[in-house]
Parts: sequence; C-alpha cells; structure tokens
Amino acid sequence: MSARKPFVAGNWKMNLERKTALGLALSVRDSVGRRDDIDVAVFPPYVYLDEISRALAGSLVKSGGQNCCDETSGAFTGEISPAMLVDVGATYVLIGHSERRHVYGEGDELVGRKVKLALEHGLSPILCVGETLEQRQAKRTEQVVGEQIARGLAGVDGRALQARVTVAYEPVWAIGTGLNATPAQAGEVHAYLRGVLAGLYNEAAAERARILYGGSVKPDNVRALMAVPGVDGVLVGGASLKPESFLPLLDYR
Ligand code: PEP
Repeated sequence: MSARKPFVAGNWKMNLERKTALGLALSVRDSVGRRDDIDVAVFPPYVYLDEISRALAGSLVKSGGQNCCDETSGAFTGEISPAMLVDVGATYVLIGHSERRHVYGEGDELVGRKVKLALEHGLSPILCVGETLEQRQAKRTEQVVGEQIARGLAGVDGRALQARVTVAYEPVWAIGTGLNATPAQAGEVHAYLRGVLAGLYNEAAAERARILYGGSVKPDNVRALMAVPGVDGVLVGGASLKPESFLPLLDYR
C-alpha cells in the first residue's frame, strides 16, 4: 500500500457568496471531524479566505489560495502575496491552474517563480499541469506535462518536494467539461509524472510525492480514479461547490 495519504481538495474558483462559502466550509469541517486517514483542503476566493480559515482553525480541514503573486510586496495592483495568504491562515496555494495558464496566459517560468516563493513563505504549493486536447491528439501529452513539471519545480530541492509540494495532473480538456480522463489515461500520465520526478530528484522522493488527478471528478467516478495506482487524491472544481457532491468524494473507497 502507498505511504502517501490521500488528499481531496476543493477549488471553488470564482463561485459562492460569503454565506454559502462559510456554510460549505462548515459542512466539510463537520463531515471530516477527527478523520486523519485523508487530507482535505478547500480553496475559497481570496476575499473569503480569512473568515473561512478562522472557521476551520483547529479542525483537520485546511484552506488555501487559488493563486498567488511571484513578488513579495509592492506596486502589483490586484495581486496577493504568499505572505498575505499565510497571514490569513492558508496552508496551501494552487499554482499554475489551467485557468491561470490558459485564460490569463501564465507560463512555466512565472509558475516556477510562484512555487519557489510560496515555499519560501511556508505555503504548500499544489503545482497544476495538464495538456490541451490538441496536444493530446498530437501525442504531445508527456512532453507538455514533463516540461511543465520540470520548469515548475526548477530550484525546488528534494526535501521541499517530499515535504510540501503536491502535483496535480489536470488535463485541460477535462476541466469543467464533464469529460473526465479514464482511469487508464490518468494512470499513464501519473506514472509518467512520477518517472519525471524520479529523474529530477530520485526514486525515494518521487515515491513520496503526491500526485492528484483533477478534471470533472464527481461522486460517480471518484472511486475508479482513486483506485488507480499512483493517483493519490483529487482536485475538484464543480463538484466541490455543494456538500451533496463534495462530501461523498471523501468516502471514495
Ligand atoms: C479544477 O478546477 O481544478 C477542476 C478540476 O474543475 P472541475 O472538477 O470542475 O473539472
């Protein structure tokens, strides 16, 4: 059995209002209770993060930012620094999410700087990688995710990788489309990514690093995806917005 603890993460994106966001966080908190066989985190919009982190304090559910700046402070209107996320109680931060890369044009170099800065400030980054449909059809999946992971982790040492970095494989064509990768497709890419990690670091570090799958995960497909060796958890968008679709994901067995 893998020594990697399963991780279920809910990315709320730009959804929910203050009251519904807080209510959702409290239901997740109450459902997780003292369960420590799984890690659970929610990623609210920035403006709700402080209140939600306070509500989750002392529980086993952690919170995180959906993004962060690659600078520590200064004239960066509209940006949020890693230190600010820590200041309002965040444990994690998503970096290089598909929507940041494809809607806002973030490239691997910027993503890599954010990962490094997040680590320096004590956050645990979740580095997201994934290919577009065109790239998959052109059989470039491995090349694309391999480059994204190598560039995203440039300058990150093996110790930080094992202790604090999570990787999320999120095929762009599966995010928010209702079309999830099959367990076989996810398994192939996860195995490839772990091999890349072994090459960049070593086998032991690669074995300890968690790699999540993300892309249209729902209660009816989570069990099959989580059964794939090398899939260590799920990063969930749409289904994380309601207790009735998120809470069953915690009982994927
Ligand atoms: C995501 O936002 O990371 C995601 C996987 O979204 P969805 O579950 O809605 O496909």
